[in-house]
Amino acid sequence: MKINFREAKSIITKSNIPSIDYVINPYTGCQHGCIYCYAEFMIRFTDHKGDKWGQFLDIKTFDLTKIKPERYDGKKVLLSSVTDPYLPLEKKYQNTRKILEKLVGTAAEVSILTKSKLVTRDIDLFRKFKNIKVGISISTLNENFARIIERAASKPLDRLEAIKEISESGISTYVFISPFFPEITDFRAIIEQSIDYSNNFIFENLNFRPHNIPRIMRIIKEHYPNLLQKYKDIQKDYDYWDVVEGVIKDYCEKKKLNYEIEFHHGGFSKS
Ligand code: SF4
Repeated sequence: MKINFREAKSIITKSNIPSIDYVINPYTGCQHGCIYCYAEFMIRFTDHKGDKWGQFLDIKTFDLTKIKPERYDGKKVLLSSVTDPYLPLEKKYQNTRKILEKLVGTAAEVSILTKSKLVTRDIDLFRKFKNIKVGISISTLNENFARIIERAASKPLDRLEAIKEISESGISTYVFISPFFPEITDFRAIIEQSIDYSNNFIFENLNFRPHNIPRIMRIIKEHYPNLLQKYKDIQKDYDYWDVVEGVIKDYCEKKKLNYEIEFHHGGFSKS
């Protein structure tokens, strides 16, 4: 893992994600190295030509005094969009924690999204916010498959344990079921395992991108060879996702869940 320090001009930046006003990415790059990651385009914008996604991390340095919590009142702020705010190196560098400490007092609607159990470290801070929700992102409960697709993220059950702890601390939570791997993601099982700790579920489909298709197909061929043809077909069959969306909708309506389905949005990373 190549580690660098880089000065960031601003650490809270305007977002181009629909429904999010500002994003905070305390790091450039992502140690989790998910095989499907949509944030890999960052390589082009960050002087990392020739580097592999998941094998470099820039620790951003920034002027904390420039963070004015009241500036974000009423806005929607997401941590993070093109990295994970609770990477293994967050334990050491604490960029996320430092930013959150400065943001205490804001009336922004803050949303945290992670694949790491390290998020529980900051429960004391979350409690100080007026409007915060903490989410975990999860694709599968299958530990082996999770290790293959999300090499360095926390195990799925550890993520669920984290959301339980956060919820029991009185903090609002959500579960981001993403990316939805056709025929593999058992969304019902994920909901059943987490429904006692969250009633908010967001779904995002697996977005095939030229950079991630070879990796996804290699893994499907190796671990789910019976699904290989289906995965080839789905890349051209946009109606497939409408059918899945209908199934999810029916299930969520019956269970009276709060849910959003973000299919066909094109896939930004959102951790
Ligand atoms: S999907 Fe999220 S957690 Fe995974 S590598 Fe990309 S930014 Fe990191």
